[in-house]
Amino acid sequence: MSASIHYPTASLRPHKEEQLLKGHLWVFSGALQQVPKWVQPGGLLDLKDARGQFIARGYYNNRTDIAIRILTRNSDELIDVDFFRKRIRHAMEVRVSLNTEQTNAYRLVNAEGDGLPGLIVDRYADIMVVQIHTLGMEQLRPLVVEALVAETGTKGVLIRNDNQSRRREGLYLGHPVVAFGEVPEKVEMIENGIRFLVDPYEGQKTGFFLDQRDNRETLRRYVQGKRVLNCFSYTGGFSVYAAKTSKVNRVTSVDISEPAMEQARENFVLNGLDLDLHEFVVQDAFEYLEQARRDKEKFEVVVLDPPAFAKNKNSFEQALLAYERLNMLGMQLLRPGGVLMTSSCSGVVSMKDFMETVTKAAEKLKLSLQVYDKYTNALDHPINKAMPETAYLKTVFYRVGA
Ligand code: SAH
Repeated sequence: MSASIHYPTASLRPHKEEQLLKGHLWVFSGALQQVPKWVQPGGLLDLKDARGQFIARGYYNNRTDIAIRILTRNSDELIDVDFFRKRIRHAMEVRVSLNTEQTNAYRLVNAEGDGLPGLIVDRYADIMVVQIHTLGMEQLRPLVVEALVAETGTKGVLIRNDNQSRRREGLYLGHPVVAFGEVPEKVEMIENGIRFLVDPYEGQKTGFFLDQRDNRETLRRYVQGKRVLNCFSYTGGFSVYAAKTSKVNRVTSVDISEPAMEQARENFVLNGLDLDLHEFVVQDAFEYLEQARRDKEKFEVVVLDPPAFAKNKNSFEQALLAYERLNMLGMQLLRPGGVLMTSSCSGVVSMKDFMETVTKAAEKLKLSLQVYDKYTNALDHPINKAMPETAYLKTVFYRVGA
């Protein structure tokens, strides 16, 4: 199809196209020469280089440092339902190796990682939960829903509008909206053969932290016959895996959210586990860890999966200090030779920064560390190689020795 629609045009300053040609999808406002006044915030436009050559097509926002996010580098590709259908089909192909009998919940669209900036789609069995982070994607929402329904045969699409990042885009925060079909209050899904209930309306993010799927499976290698502490447990993801691995395992889950802990208990029951054999603690994890140290509690495995401590570059140093403190607290509760699984989901903290921080924590305690396993994003959270910040998840399994 030839482009019969003419999008408004913006131009780059000289030599600002290099990163875009490598596949980066963001244009900062400082890189722009001029944007026509009639381009509406959130509207589509074509980007040209300083000599007037077409570079890419994307959407614009004058309120944010990232002025343009790229949708395509093909000038013949219009941003219509077919565009979204193609991108979704491609995303499905990328995930084809997931065994859907064992795992029917995964991230179907991972924003920049799948070439669709500002769009997240998580699939829970037959239900799709969508997050839209940018004004530009918000304006394309009807196309997204139509394409999702057509390509996936989903029974229901729920749009969550409560992500804080919407604010700086000039978007409202609001209640979830059913955009297609029916979406039940709770959806049952399976992950690596383990059952979970997800609350798509009220749960954190879209209801479940799918990015840790592989690490939850990996944890099972280390927990046989062990006493396990899972801090920031949310609805019990790592905890259920640990408890299911062996009847003699004892798992303590700690999270500050009462509803999350209630759901964790339900997830234990759903998997035939005995609630009386395990502990469920609603408390600040730092407080819990301090108290447990004073009480001389010991565990053989400690899992630390906190929320992002660094939301942006400004909080980078502070975040490293928080990771150091948290990991010291976690290590202090381990028996010699115990396993620490520790994560950071802060995009601005690299694997190198994170591992150096954990090393520092161990040095302060005069403990030795050996690395067992080290992971970034699972395959349904693809990384855009030109954008290192899309490799946001770092998880390391350490053996901690005296
Ligand atoms: N590991 C989980 C996901 C963790 S998400 C899983 O596999 O599903 C981070 C969790 O940290 C959320 O559940 C949030 O409620 C919790 N949280 C945030 N701040 C906390 C704090 N100070 N103490 C304990 N939990 C906290």
